[in-house]
Amino acid sequence: MVQFVYKKKRGFMNKYLQKVLNEVKNKDNTEKEYIQAVEEVLSTIEPVIEKHPEYEKIALLERMVEPERLISFRVPYVKDNGQTVVHRGFRVQFSSLIGPYKGGLRFHPSVNQSIMKFLAFEQIFKNALTGLPIGGGKGGSDFDPKEKSDGEIMRFCQSFMTELQRHIGQDVDVPAGDIGVGEREIGYLFGQYKRIKDIYEGGVLTGKGLSYGGSLARKEATGFGLIYFMREMLKHNGSQSLAGKTVTISGAGNVAIYACQKAAEYGAKVVAMSDSKGCIYDKDGINLDLIKQIKEERRGRISEYLEARPQAQYFARENEDSPIWNIKADIALPCATQNELTLNSAKKLVENGVIAIGEGANMPCTKEATEYLLANNILVAPAKAANAGGVATSAIEMSQNSMRYYLTFEEVDKKLDSIMVNIFNSCKNAAEEYNLGNNYVAGANIAAFTKLAKAMEAQGIV
Ligand code: NDP
Repeated sequence: MVQFVYKKKRGFMNKYLQKVLNEVKNKDNTEKEYIQAVEEVLSTIEPVIEKHPEYEKIALLERMVEPERLISFRVPYVKDNGQTVVHRGFRVQFSSLIGPYKGGLRFHPSVNQSIMKFLAFEQIFKNALTGLPIGGGKGGSDFDPKEKSDGEIMRFCQSFMTELQRHIGQDVDVPAGDIGVGEREIGYLFGQYKRIKDIYEGGVLTGKGLSYGGSLARKEATGFGLIYFMREMLKHNGSQSLAGKTVTISGAGNVAIYACQKAAEYGAKVVAMSDSKGCIYDKDGINLDLIKQIKEERRGRISEYLEARPQAQYFARENEDSPIWNIKADIALPCATQNELTLNSAKKLVENGVIAIGEGANMPCTKEATEYLLANNILVAPAKAANAGGVATSAIEMSQNSMRYYLTFEEVDKKLDSIMVNIFNSCKNAAEEYNLGNNYVAGANIAAFTKLAKAMEAQGIV
């Protein structure tokens, strides 16, 4: 079997892939995150494209990299002090090949078209891996919910939904949360949707509160799912387990908190967590109840951890390399944001003896960092597969809404676990089929791409 090794400088051996990448780079030349996400996928599917020369005639790749629809809209709202402020809202409806568009909403000042498109593009592949009938989308706004009053958050969400409601529906497009959008924001968005549409359409949003249609275990799902994937990956690589391993987790949000909880349940010791300002190191193991109080209840800063645990240490972030990756760990879980783990950080982790990386956030490792980790035989659980537990459980929430029936926490968690096992096996099998060893980054892309390509061929030129 020929090994196709894509090198950024040399480019592809396959001319069709090179043509499509060049077109994206030319057309979307200001969208660096989007180009990065496309290049990452294309760089791993060369053996599949070689096997299917017929894809070029039907422009399969060109169709896969062009969103079905991209909506950009104005979101005005009034602040508590009476000032009107205008933000930009987005919804990228990237692909409905295998189900209604599905993907979260992000409220963060860094949101722009490139970030929305990269997230929506990756979501298509992630959703395909879940084995559930969900297409790919993403949305959000450059609005920053930090330090806003509840009233301001509510008015912003109502304004955002006043436009978004035209484009979504439980069989059309189903948003959920992401950075800056949690249960509170989903509640306000759902309330406004219901008010405008005059209908209780439970499945139009996921991540809802339990009192009006949410699913048990949705909050925990992405973090738990990441650890289930990690458990499988370690098991298949030298029968290792999480027990006794030292773990560092970036972020202190929804994904990070529940990854920390599940890792500790499996006997691992989580010694560090972070937020955008810096990280805390607690050599005795992070006190997660304290993190939940600071982050979930008070919406505070992670540095406040030291007030209750003065024996812990705080390292402020000084540049693009987060200090958390300087801390020695067996397993590192980037669970904050894109490109947060750089080549420098990857080198530091390898130097300190890391054995596995689990991507809880979307595209948290830069391309150079991923290449370096794989070249040094570090196990990498890629985001599209490893953090798919959240969207999979969102799909389970949609099913419960349709059935008008609720599953118990244990039932949802069991389904989540078996979905993560299946996702791991798909990545493993695809990597093995193409002689790629334990390169699950390539395995995930190939498994998802193969499924999507079949669906695209079957549906004709659309
Ligand atoms: P939250 O808003 O709950 O938490 C985000 C965390 O990341 C916070 O600790 C935040 O710190 C930190 N963070 C955000 N932006 C930056 C930045 N630019 N630099 C450094 N740190 C940053 O978000 P989630 O936990 O929901 O999402 C985290 C990641 O996981 C995202 O990449 C998201 O796309 C991905 N994901 C989430 C899923 C979900 O179900 N929630 C599902 C699949 C993927 P601070 O408070 O200081 O901003």
